[in-house]
Amino acid sequence: MHSFYLDAPGAAGQVAALPKDEAKHAAKVLRLREGDAVCALDGAGGRFSAEVVRAQGEHVELRLTAELPPNEPPVRLTVYPGLPKSDKLEFMVQKLTELGAAACVPVVMARSVARPDARDGEKRRERLERIAREAAKQCRRARPAEVDAPLDWPRALERMAGHELLIVPWEGAGSLRMGELRAECPGAKDIAIAVGPEGGISEEEVAALRAHGARVVTLGPRILRAETAVVASAALAMALWGDL
Ligand code: SAH
Repeated sequence: MHSFYLDAPGAAGQVAALPKDEAKHAAKVLRLREGDAVCALDGAGGRFSAEVVRAQGEHVELRLTAELPPNEPPVRLTVYPGLPKSDKLEFMVQKLTELGAAACVPVVMARSVARPDARDGEKRRERLERIAREAAKQCRRARPAEVDAPLDWPRALERMAGHELLIVPWEGAGSLRMGELRAECPGAKDIAIAVGPEGGISEEEVAALRAHGARVVTLGPRILRAETAVVASAALAMALWGDL
């Protein structure tokens, strides 16, 4: 079933017009007609089963037949990947949205090969937001993961330290596993995970994160690529504290 975003919070029983770009896609590309069943997402957490009640040119209206159970996880997960090359960041944003992460905040780390682009940085962020939106539609999540502009290290450190629990997977870690952290903090609701870029987190960065209360964990005896480490650690955290 196809999903569409509304541009305002919805309510069961209501008839809502799709925003122009969504309507165009529904009518011209997917050729939806009156009576077709779809899913409507309101971007504010509301999810509805819906029926097309009008489809004329670029004007598409849906009747929201019933509210669907919410599917936001019980934990707010923010992932801070070391800024990677842009195709890898796109992959991460897509997977993090599917896994239920609340936000993805890239961080310029010492060994980040990529640098934020002053010229078309905003364009890149818009593209990432579009990817998060498409991923949310595909997995019928009411809310896409937020994507922030890359942060420099001092600002990122301050922000990461502000979370209830900050987890840092590092291949140089001892033997602490995420599952053991869960036993220590079973009720954590605001979790952050910082993962190194392709070249890894530097020892100085790990020390600074530790000094700010981070818990350094292992993801096992194999070195994972940065994008694998992001997906694996987010999935683990969602299995331990969330709803996977
Ligand atoms: N420094 C490494 C690779 C970095 S992998 C090298 O080039 O040899 C990218 C990031 O993934 C790491 O910084 C770390 O945060 C995470 N990571 C990868 N494998 C891991 C493992 N086995 N345990 C914990 N974290 C890991």
